[in-house]
Amino acid sequence: MRNDPDIQFLKGVGPKRAQLLASELGVTDISGLIRIYPYRYIDRSSIVPIGSIQSTSAMVQIRAQVISSVLLDKSGSPVDTSGPDIRFNTVSRLSAVVSDGTGQMELVFFKGVKYIWPRLQPGKVFIFFGKPSVYNGRLNMVHPEIDDPSGQEMQGQPSMAGVYPSTERLKNAGITGKVMSRIMMSALEAGLPDVQETLPEYVLKEKGLVPLNYALRNIHFPKDQQALRKAEYRLKFEELFLLQLSLLKQKYVRSRNERGILMPNVGDAFHKCYNSLPYSLTGAQKRVIREIREDMRSGRQMNRLLQGDVGSGKTMVAVLSALIAYGNGYQTCIMAPTEVLARQHYANICKYLEGTGVHVAALTGTTRTAERREVLEDLASGKTGIIVGTHALIEDTVVFRNLGLAIVDEQHRFGVDQRARLWGKAGIAPHILVMTATPIPRTLAMTLYGDLDISVIDEMPPGRIPVQTIQITETQRLSMYKFIKDQIAAGRQAFIVYPMIFENEKVDYKNVERGYEEILQSFPFPPYKVAIVHGQQSDEDKKFNMDAFAAGRADILVSTTVIEVGVDVPNATVMVIESPERFGLSQLHQLRGRVGRGGGASYCILVRGHKVSAESRKRLDLLCSTEDGFVLAEEDMKMRGPGDLEGTQQSGLPIELGLASLSTDGQILADARDYAAHILEQDPDLSSPRNRPLLAEMRKDKYNKLDYSKIS
Ligand code: ADP
Ligand code: MG
Repeated sequence: MRNDPDIQFLKGVGPKRAQLLASELGVTDISGLIRIYPYRYIDRSSIVPIGSIQSTSAMVQIRAQVISSVLLDKSGSPVDTSGPDIRFNTVSRLSAVVSDGTGQMELVFFKGVKYIWPRLQPGKVFIFFGKPSVYNGRLNMVHPEIDDPSGQEMQGQPSMAGVYPSTERLKNAGITGKVMSRIMMSALEAGLPDVQETLPEYVLKEKGLVPLNYALRNIHFPKDQQALRKAEYRLKFEELFLLQLSLLKQKYVRSRNERGILMPNVGDAFHKCYNSLPYSLTGAQKRVIREIREDMRSGRQMNRLLQGDVGSGKTMVAVLSALIAYGNGYQTCIMAPTEVLARQHYANICKYLEGTGVHVAALTGTTRTAERREVLEDLASGKTGIIVGTHALIEDTVVFRNLGLAIVDEQHRFGVDQRARLWGKAGIAPHILVMTATPIPRTLAMTLYGDLDISVIDEMPPGRIPVQTIQITETQRLSMYKFIKDQIAAGRQAFIVYPMIFENEKVDYKNVERGYEEILQSFPFPPYKVAIVHGQQSDEDKKFNMDAFAAGRADILVSTTVIEVGVDVPNATVMVIESPERFGLSQLHQLRGRVGRGGGASYCILVRGHKVSAESRKRLDLLCSTEDGFVLAEEDMKMRGPGDLEGTQQSGLPIELGLASLSTDGQILADARDYAAHILEQDPDLSSPRNRPLLAEMRKDKYNKLDYSKIS
C-alpha cells in the first residue's frame, strides 16, 4: 500500500482502541488490519422457524415477538419493576419468552440487563441471533444478538456476516463482533483504493484468480457464496504460492552458489560393507542411497531430508553414505539427540564396519577426559573416519581434519544454532543428511523443509510382524500384568511408558515414579527385574538402566518418552502406554515402533482412562487400525493442526498462514508449488519486468527471515 495510515485514524477506533488492536491482534496499519480475516461466516439471510429448530449445534436466527419478560434475582424471585427506579444491582438475570407462531423460546441475559430490559417490551418483534440450547426441557438462547427487523442496522448489512478473531480484552473494550465489522468496513473504504496487487497480471489470468481488491472486499463482506469462494481461493493461493516461491528461490540460489565437496568415488570400504551385509537392502533403501550418491558427486552441496518410519532401516543408509565420504577421503559425523541413542548407533555402526578398516569413534557428554583427548586427537589427525556422538560434537574443542558429511538423526531435537555451529566446523559446507522417523505429511514437509530435497524410505524390511494394538481400561490392568508375566516367562521383555506432565514449563515425573513403585509391587524381585529411565536421572544412571534392559538383564523398562526415538531392543515384544490420550498420534506410533523388531509377535497395549473425549477415542481407534505412519501423521494434522504436530513444535512453521491450511489445502499447495517452480525455471531471479510484483513481495521481511540455508 502506498499510503498506509495508522489505524487510530479510522472511524470508530481512536488511540486507545488502536493500541489494543496492536497488542491483541498485532496490527498497526490498515494494510495489516484488512489482512485479519473472518474465521467463519454467518448467513444472516435465513430466518429459522422456532418450531423447526432441532439441532443445538449451529447458530440460528429467529424473527420473534416478545411475549413476556421478567427480571430475576439470585434466588430466582422476580424483582419489582413497577416503580420508576428498578434496582438493577439486585438483578441476576433477565428472562424473556418469545414466539414466532411456530414455537416459543426463552431468552436469557446475565449482562447488560439495564440496557436490554427497556428494549424487550412485550409485543415488539426482533431478530434474535445466537446459539440455541435446551435447558430444563425448554429451548433457550443465552445472550442472543438483538436486531431491529426494520431498523437501520439491517440495512446495508450484507447477508453473510464475518466473525473475526477476538480476545477477552477486545470484547471488554467494546470491540464486539459488530464493532469489528464496522471498523473493518471503514478500513476497507480507506485502504482498498491503495491496495497494490501482489500477483502479476499473467498469474491471475493463468491461474484464474480474482484480483486482490475484489478478494479483500469479499473475504470481509461477501456479496454471495460464490464471491466468497473465489476470494478465499485467491487469498489461499497467494499465501501458499508466495511462501513456496520464497522457499524454492532460496533453494535455487543455493544450489547455484553453494559449492559442494565433490565426491566422485564410492570406495572399497563401501563395497566391502555392502557385500557383507547380513541382509539385502530393501528397494527403498537402495533408491535413497542412489539419490544420496548422486548428490555427493554433483559438486553441489547436499541438503537432504531422509524420512523413514521407525524400523525402516535408516541407520544402514547413514553408514553407507558415510562410507562414500570415506571413500573420497572425508570424515563423517553422525549426531544423535540422546546419549543412549548415540551409544546404540556407535555399537551398531562398529558392528557393520567390522573388517572394513574404518576407524569409528564416539564422543558424548560422559566420555572421560583421557579418552576424550584421544578421540579429539584422532579426529584432528584424520585417523578417525566416522564419529558418532551427541551435542558434545559441536563443542568448540572438537576439530575435524576434513569433515565432508554431517548426518543428523532425529533433527528436531537439535536447535537451529547448534546445527549452524556444526556447519561452521568445515571450511567448505559439508553435505548434510537429516534423518527423521517422524513421518511428516507431504504438505507440511513441503512447507517446513521446502528448500530441502526429500527422500522417503516407504518400505519396511521383510519379515516384520505387525504389532497388535489394543485399548484397555483400568479394570483390565491385572489381566494385562498376567499377560506381561507370560511374555516374560517366554523370554520376552516389556516397555511401560508414562507421559510426562508439563505444567508451567516444569516437568512432572510423578507419573513415572508412581508407576514404577506399582510395577515393583506387581513384579517383585525375584524373579522380576525392573529398570527405570527418565529425564531427571543422570546420564550415567540412564545409561546403566538402558544397558540393563538392552542386554536382557531387566525384564521390564519403565520410562517416560526418553525411549521414544531409535532405541532398538528386538527382544522386547510388549509396549504398554499409560494414559495414551495424553500423547499425539505420531508419538504413539513412534512408541509402538519400539516393538515388533524381530522378537516375534508383538503387542502394543494402550491403557486409557475411562472418560476420554470422543476425539481421543477416534485417535486411539485409528492407531489400533493402522501401522502406516504417514496415514497417522496426516490424521494427526487434521485433528490437531500442523502447529501441534510432533516434531514441528520446536522448529515451528516458517510462516504463519492466515487463511490456508496445510491439512485441507494440500491440492492448492501442490499446485502453487509447481507453479512457483515453473516461474523460477524461466526467471530464477525474478528479474523480468512482468515478475516485478513478485520480486517486491520476496523482499518483504517475512520472507527474508526464512533463512534455511544454514540450518539444515
Ligand atoms: P530406523 O533407524 O529407520 O528406525 P534401523 O536402521 O534401526 O531403523 O533398522 C531397524 C532394524 O532393521 C535393525 O535391526 C536393522 O538391522 C534391520 N534392517 C535394516 N535394513 C534391513 C533390511 N534391508 N533387511 C532386513 N533387516 C534390516
Ligand atoms: Mg534410527
